[in-house]
Amino acid sequence: MLNQKKLALEIFEEVRNQTKDSVIGVTRESFGVGEEQALKTLEMYAKKLNLEFDRDDYQNLWIWRKDEVSDLPPIIIGSHIDSVPQGGNYDGLAGIVAGILILHSLDKRNLKTKNPIKVLALRGEESAWYGKAYIGSSALLGVLAEIDLENKHRSEDKSLGQALKQVGANIDAIRAKKPLLLPSEIKAYLELHIEQGPVMVARNWPVAVVTGIRGNMRHNKIQCIGETGHSGAVPRWLRKDALLAVTELLTRLDEHWRVLLQMGMDLVMTVGVCSTPTQSHAVSVIPGQVDFSFEVRSQDNETLSQFYNLMRQECEAIEKSRGVQFQFDRKIVTGAAQMDDKLIGVLVDTAQKDSLLLEKIPSGAGHDATIFSNNGIPSGMIFIRNNNGSHNPQEEMDIEDFMIGTNLMLDGILEYSNQLN
Ligand SMILES: [Zn+2]
Repeated sequence: MLNQKKLALEIFEEVRNQTKDSVIGVTRESFGVGEEQALKTLEMYAKKLNLEFDRDDYQNLWIWRKDEVSDLPPIIIGSHIDSVPQGGNYDGLAGIVAGILILHSLDKRNLKTKNPIKVLALRGEESAWYGKAYIGSSALLGVLAEIDLENKHRSEDKSLGQALKQVGANIDAIRAKKPLLLPSEIKAYLELHIEQGPVMVARNWPVAVVTGIRGNMRHNKIQCIGETGHSGAVPRWLRKDALLAVTELLTRLDEHWRVLLQMGMDLVMTVGVCSTPTQSHAVSVIPGQVDFSFEVRSQDNETLSQFYNLMRQECEAIEKSRGVQFQFDRKIVTGAAQMDDKLIGVLVDTAQKDSLLLEKIPSGAGHDATIFSNNGIPSGMIFIRNNNGSHNPQEEMDIEDFMIGTNLMLDGILEYSNQLN
């Protein structure tokens, strides 16, 4: 029997080598070359480990045990296979490797579970490529909005719909929102993922169980339109400076944010993109246009809506006071998600039996588990301690922590599966 830790290290290393970015980190573009290469590498390992595998109609990869005969709804162990540009190797991949180790371990121990276990490598989770997250899981469950297929690639003249078609996904079925599985056809969804915040390192927790996942509201692009003019010739009272308008908006929103936090609300706000157009900006030109993104996240859907409405109200007020105009692209909403209480309970109890203190933690970052949970599928997540955040090559996960998390998931599934009998 292959040593599980050795096997994990080998798969991580091989996928890293296959998807190395030419500059730094790994790049597994959603529906692009690196993602496909990573999938092929996983398929190679599935074959080597005598597991069955296949792509579904939307080109997500499924792996399961050869002698699996049960046609009961499966327990899915999933995560995403894509990465952000020049990202880290463990983001997403860790959850899939955990699933493969669990299948392998069950095989070697000759253990059966009542409901079959299927590992799912989901494509297109990262919004960095097409401004839309959870594409693979949303398509799978038939909830990917048709309009999302028009989203453009971050730097190429290619739409999401074209990219999906290029990799062989059944684009007509996706457009028709045809689910490949109904929620009733999935027993549970489990995902192991590195923590992307600093809490577990600070608290010295090797693993933790996730209670819920923050939702978000986004605009990929808001335009503030003012009036360009000569910086020396136009007096203050005649200016319509788009940059000052956006600056005032952000300052006001930052103050609202501070107050809402004081009131005990869960909230984070980010403007990650903000620029004046290169073709018209100059040191001596009053900015007549600013393009920026807007994102707010919270564990509470009500708080999301409240803060979003505040943002729109402030835009209207600034339009009046500064003579500018705000134009919004489509609002993208992902609701906050709760993890399943029963799954959380099973994981906590299982950890206790292994003398492992399992703390609970909310997830600030979004995950495919959101989509499963919000479509009525009992979902659970295990976080693994990770240094230096994620979405960068400096992410740092200890393989020992990963093995603790993987074993916890395996024991938890066996316990959960027993309780289903
Ligand atoms: Zn991730």
